[in-house]
Amino acid sequence: MRSLSIKLRVALWYTGIMILLAAASLAVLLSLSSRFVQHGARDRLEGRVALALKEAEWDREERRLDIDDDLKVFEDGVWIGIYDGQGYPLYGQAPEGFPEGVVFEDRQIRMVSGGSAVWYVYDIHRIVPGYGSVWVRGAASRSDAEEAFAAMIRMAVFLFPFLAALAAGGGYLITRRAFLPIAQMAETARRISTGGDLTERIGLGKGNDELYQLAETFDSMLSRLQGQFEKEKQFTADVSHELRTPISVILSRCEYALGHMEDGEGRESLQIVLDQARKMARLVSQLLMLSRADGNRLELQLEDVDLSVLFEVVIQEQEAAASEKSITIQPDIQPDVMVQADETMMMRLLINLISNAITYGKVGGHIRVGLSKSSGTVHGYVEDDGVGIPNEHLDRIWDRFYQVDPSRTAEDGRGAGLGLSMVKWIVSSHGGDIHVESRVGEGSRFSFEFPSRQPPAT
Ligand code: ADP
Repeated sequence: MRSLSIKLRVALWYTGIMILLAAASLAVLLSLSSRFVQHGARDRLEGRVALALKEAEWDREERRLDIDDDLKVFEDGVWIGIYDGQGYPLYGQAPEGFPEGVVFEDRQIRMVSGGSAVWYVYDIHRIVPGYGSVWVRGAASRSDAEEAFAAMIRMAVFLFPFLAALAAGGGYLITRRAFLPIAQMAETARRISTGGDLTERIGLGKGNDELYQLAETFDSMLSRLQGQFEKEKQFTADVSHELRTPISVILSRCEYALGHMEDGEGRESLQIVLDQARKMARLVSQLLMLSRADGNRLELQLEDVDLSVLFEVVIQEQEAAASEKSITIQPDIQPDVMVQADETMMMRLLINLISNAITYGKVGGHIRVGLSKSSGTVHGYVEDDGVGIPNEHLDRIWDRFYQVDPSRTAEDGRGAGLGLSMVKWIVSSHGGDIHVESRVGEGSRFSFEFPSRQPPAT
């Protein structure tokens, strides 16, 4: 039952109860009407026979049975016949098809069938003074009486499924309407959780019922959350922006001082300051980029790029860093892969992936960098044979500031856990996707794909 939606459950209950109610009332109605119909027929029969009885009298003067002319043989659905003690007809007649020789029984209503018809029969016996035994018999066709009843059953049989379908359909529509606000709330929550867009609102408008109030509360909660997030993002953007100038002063001063300094302890310290300042500069630029991306203020500068050449260039640049760990980079690049993309972003994407592969690669290891294009989709990968990533961390490495082992990274003096979030943003802003496969101790493979041409901006 839980697998069904509430709408459907309510509608099913509703329909079930409606069907039960309709069936019960129909059953009561049918049994009442059946009795009513039968009683009606019997009453008429008894009444007509009793009336006929009064009309048969012994005429003393003429010495014969006198039957009033007013007595009609057929009236009100009842046939009247008067018989003598031996069953010889004196007056009136039995209906056509009425069986011969039906035994007389005083004041008993019975059913007699003959051919395809069925009759109610009612007899009264009377001793007419001076004449003797007289039987008055009334016969009424059962089919006449029950024709109306049968018609009623036919109508019920037709009406019943119609009513049930009406109850089911109507019930479902009403509950669906009633649950519409909830569906809207769920849809908004789903959109926020998948797209992360806090500007979404349920927006049910004004209404007095509890669901409208709930939606309004949700909306105002979302507004407050959005305000907080925006303040935080703005703060990060402002701080990153403000840090850029002092960092670039430190960098240029360090580089200048190192160029004019003799070897010695002071120079070593300054080199460390310069390295840390570079790390800070990288971090600040990543933070700034991500906060601009969050605020949709980062626009891709799309141009036609020969990605094969770009990849070759980045690989050459990274070879120096790789050789410090005796790592060999093996390119597997299809030539002339032309794409429409943001060149700087593409460089950042590859630099990040390769420098991670170097950082987490083993000394003397290998890195393979691949690029190819097939039917309008660009495929790329960066594969290393380094430490690998434990399974339980695989989903989270894309999160900001997430590091599998922060102490390890701190020792190496690289990164702050922002690189992969940026990589993911770059791939998805080009309409693509990136995945990772990894085995601890064996290495990792980051593979991505995106369309080679970007859809025109709307
Ligand atoms: P960081 O600046 O720490 O490298 P990233 O966002 O680039 O941050 O990566 C997040 C985490 O994912 C890293 O801390 C690291 O533990 C793991 N990781 C990334 N690339 C690799 C790789 N090629 N091999 C093993 N672990 C990796």
